[in-house]
Order: sequence, then structure tokens, then C-alpha cells
Amino acid sequence: MQDFKSYTLDRRPARGQLIKRLLLSVIFLLILAAGFLFLISNPTEESQPANSPDPDAESQPEQQRKLILPLSLPGQSQQSGENPTPIKQNSKGFLSQAFAAESVETAKAEIAPEVIPATTSAPQPTVAEESRKTVYKIRSGDSMASIFKKNKLSPSLLHQIVNSSKTAKQLTDIRPGETLHMAFDSDDNLLSLRLEHSKVDSLEILATAEGFTATEKSRAVDTRNTHLSGVIENSLYVSAKKSGLSDQLIMQLADIFGWDIDFALEIRSGDRFTVIFEEDYLDGEKLRDGPILAAEFINQGKTYQALRYVDDTGRADYYTPEGRSMRKAFLRAPVDFRRISSRFTRERYHPVLGKKRPHRGVDYAAKTGTPIRASGDGKVIFRGKKGGYGKTVIIQHGQTYTTLYAHLSRYNKKSRKGTRVKQGQVIGYVGKTGLATGPHLHYEFRVNGVHRNPLTVKLPAAKPIAKKYRDDFMIKIQPLISKLDLISRTLVADAQ
Ligand SMILES: [Zn+2]
Repeated sequence: MQDFKSYTLDRRPARGQLIKRLLLSVIFLLILAAGFLFLISNPTEESQPANSPDPDAESQPEQQRKLILPLSLPGQSQQSGENPTPIKQNSKGFLSQAFAAESVETAKAEIAPEVIPATTSAPQPTVAEESRKTVYKIRSGDSMASIFKKNKLSPSLLHQIVNSSKTAKQLTDIRPGETLHMAFDSDDNLLSLRLEHSKVDSLEILATAEGFTATEKSRAVDTRNTHLSGVIENSLYVSAKKSGLSDQLIMQLADIFGWDIDFALEIRSGDRFTVIFEEDYLDGEKLRDGPILAAEFINQGKTYQALRYVDDTGRADYYTPEGRSMRKAFLRAPVDFRRISSRFTRERYHPVLGKKRPHRGVDYAAKTGTPIRASGDGKVIFRGKKGGYGKTVIIQHGQTYTTLYAHLSRYNKKSRKGTRVKQGQVIGYVGKTGLATGPHLHYEFRVNGVHRNPLTVKLPAAKPIAKKYRDDFMIKIQPLISKLDLISRTLVADAQ
């Protein structure tokens, strides 16, 4: 351009005249071309005012590309001033800006107003088009660093993402089984990351003009109430399975009534149960079983009902319709009912001693090594060999009660003499030490030093429902009790 000026100012004869004409026609052509380009670009400009935010910006990357393109035409470059190549920043440049950790100020200045409204303070998702996606199943031994390396992403990028917010920090805490989704643009710039903890919960990280945004997302789960009933033929487990209860629900049921009913020894054929429980659905498909809301168990003609109540603090527990706790100070059975292989008669001919003697406890036949649980909170007052009992543990519970566990194959490390144990804590393992023909647990229950039948002894109950919740409890359980009764009546009617 400098040369052009000097030529026009410099008046030279004939040859100069020719050059002048030539130049004039070139200028004319240039003006024509410029006018034409201006016409193309201008209509778009008017339909999309420079500083009006585009609400569809996020969802329509196609449209954005069309809007951005005219800005690079020569007619516009004049307006951009110090910003000679705006298109580059828009298509992908600002992304690499974000990743390259350049100052936010710079990034902002270079973004065309059509794309990110200047007034918006909240970070906007990137406008770059997604061209490639990867899905990665996290396995044990994986780290975010190794996954980044595999995808040719720099450690400094990971460092930057992780340090962008407290939420983003969770990205380093990956567990086997989780799924990682990554999206890249056509230049392999990372656009987004989604770490799916489960079908419901995920962590989403987006690259934006301002850096990274991290959001914890939880999909809406649809909860439905449902119920199942069954009649026991032989074992609770088999019958409950047959009626459609999942393992998880069977365990919940056994836990709820485990203080009242010994599922190993007291179950009779003809016993019945009904369970009202929640089911969680995601997109119309069943995701999992929720908690049992109400349950009924009829054991040897005796009806037990349990109702779930969640208090103000979110603590859930089960109560009888009268508001008494289902929990007791003692578990009925110190061995998981599913692991019991057979039951012994209570008074029997002692196979080892060869004479009949009163049996002062309950025997649970189970495989050697089956865990034995403390039936209540207490203190280990004896641990060692005790004649015919073999390896034995005795627990003192308060002033009144003691429990004894005999014939163990070995003790649990944490059940040394003098230590406190919690209800359900494993104290040892089934064996056949002492006078025993096969592996079993011999369990005794003493009240003030007197042997009692562990199956029938009246056990002290935990605290009833708190006074301040009592009215609310009574109101809330009514529909559940009505439903339990209705299901129960229908069952009986069907059976007859
Ligand atoms: Zn015994």
C-alpha cells in the first residue's frame, strides 16, 4: 500500500500514465469486490445484533459456525481493530486459551459478542464442536493421570482442572466400575469430562471461556411402592426368593425381625410374610430395591409387624405399631441364619459322653469358619479353653446377662478378654473343639447366672419411639398398617 501511494503522487509521463490506469482499474475492482462481500455479511449482522445474547448458543453449534464465519471477511476486519483474526478464537482458539491458562481478561476480550454475552457472569459452555468422544471404564489400578496420558492430554491440564474448584478435585477420586466420558474437538482439545459414579450420580466438567466448571449431577429417580408376600415351605431364604424378594430385601427382612424371630431354628412351614417396600426407577427401568417400609411376619401363628419411621434428623428405624422399637438388646441368633445347615434337638443323647444330659443352650450346625456374632453389646469376660466346651467366649452384658459361645475353631483378634464388643460384631468362628462330633456353635444365655432358653427368653427392648415423634409416627403408619392388613386378608382368602 505504501508503494501504491508513492506511485500515484509521483507524476510520470507516458509509462506512468499507463500504470496509473492499470492501478485505477484494480482499485475499481477492489471496491466492487468489497461492496459485494459487504452485502453478503451485512444481513447476518442485522439479524443477529452484536451484543444480544443468543439463547440457543449452547444447543446449536451448527448455527454458530455460520454466524461466526462472516466476521473473518475483509470488510469487517477494520471494525475489530486490534483483533485481526477473530474467527480463530471462536472456532477453537478460546478453548486452547482456557487450557493454556492465559489470563481470563485476554480470553474475554477476544470472544466475539455473538457467542458469549458480555453481561453474563455465569460461565458458558464451550461453543466448539464435539468431534470425538471416548468412553472409559475405570479399572483397579487406574488413575486420572494414567487416563490423561493415554489420551495424550498433558499432566498440567489435569492439574489445572483439578485445582479449578473443590468439586473438580473429586476427579482424582476414581473407583473401579465407574465410567469416564470424554469429548474432544477436531483438534483434540478436551471439551468435557463426565465421571459417572453410578447410573444416577455423576461429576461433569466443562471447558469454558473462564476456565473449567465442575458440577455434581444427580438424575431424578422415580420411587414407587410395591409389595410381595409369601408362605414359607422350608427355609425363609428359599421361600422368599421364590416369591420374588431380592437377596437384599431378604436380609432387610431378617434384620428387622431378627431380634424377635430366630430364622434358623424357629421357622415353620406355613409361616407367612408380607413386605411393602420402595423400588427406584430410572427412565422407566427398575434400578434397585429401596428400603422396606412395612413388613409383617407370622411365625408359628404369632403376628409381628414392623413399620419404618424416619425422624427429623433423617435417622430411620423400625417400630411396632405401638411405637416400640424392633431392636432388642440381643440378637436372637448369633449366626447368620443363611449359614445354618441343620438344627439339633434341645435335649438329646450326648453323642460323645454317651449318656443323656440336659442341654442348656442352643446348637447351630454350620460349616467350620462360619462367623459368630456377639448377640449384644458387652464385655468379653472369658476367652479360652473350657473343658468339653472347647474354645469358648463368654460376654457379660450389663449386670444381668451373660452369653456363652462354645466349640469355636478360632477367636477373632478383637475379642480379647476385657475388650468391649458391639452387637453383631464377629467374636469367633464355628468349629468343633471340645466335646463335639461335628462343627457347630453351642450358645447359652444366662439371666442372673441362670440358664435360659435363648429361643424363648424375654429380651429387653431398645427405647421406644421418641415422644416428640410419636404423634407423627402414629399418623404416618396408618396407611401402611391398613395395606398390610388388606394384603394379609387377601392372602388368607386366596389360600382358602
Ligand atoms: Zn450344645
